[in-house]
Amino acid sequence: MRILLIEDDAMIGRAVRQGLAQAGFAVDWVTDGRAAELSLANGVYDLAVLDLGLPKKDGMSILTALRAMGNSMPVLIASARDTVRDRISGLEAGADDYVLKPFDLDELVARVRALLRRHVGSGSPLMCFGPLALDPVRKSVTRNGAPVELSAKEFAVLEALMQRPGAVLSREKLEESVYGWGEEIGSNAIEVHLHHLRKKLGSALIKNVRGVGYRVTEG
Ligand code: CA
Repeated sequence: MRILLIEDDAMIGRAVRQGLAQAGFAVDWVTDGRAAELSLANGVYDLAVLDLGLPKKDGMSILTALRAMGNSMPVLIASARDTVRDRISGLEAGADDYVLKPFDLDELVARVRALLRRHVGSGSPLMCFGPLALDPVRKSVTRNGAPVELSAKEFAVLEALMQRPGAVLSREKLEESVYGWGEEIGSNAIEVHLHHLRKKLGSALIKNVRGVGYRVTEG
């Protein structure tokens, strides 16, 4: 799942990006309101973490414009504006949740998860294919009902493949879904994740289509 982080404070931005990435999300980070609007226009995000005081365009205007366009993506405001009035206007403008700075990183991640869970419905949005079942919100995977421990990146690779079962995804495409902008990617990082995935899940479940990419199979 891909998150847009809109935050102009370098220290907070770095920490939040790292925390969310460790939790297995692909994170793109923009530092001003204009860049935020351009990124949001792509429509590729599952959730946005939004600061209010931003250069070029205020967070509240971004949120209002987003909702006016009919975009219902979950938005979590993370702001130092702490009057009750601020919170109410944030929620009235269409934010789904509001955390006050300074916040605890674990709490922020937990709130992000809760919002995503609520957004996809109260039931579990399980992705199932062959013997595999993947829960994108709880970040868990089972094979024939037995839990499989995956690293955050392994999980993200598998999630990308299971979003389009049977379709062949190129390495570049996988990198795009697994890594946020500016994240360091080793030249064979995706291959390494795939190697581990095949070891953990059984090599029959992930096929390498030579020269093209990878796909999941029913084994
Ligand atoms: Ca700010």
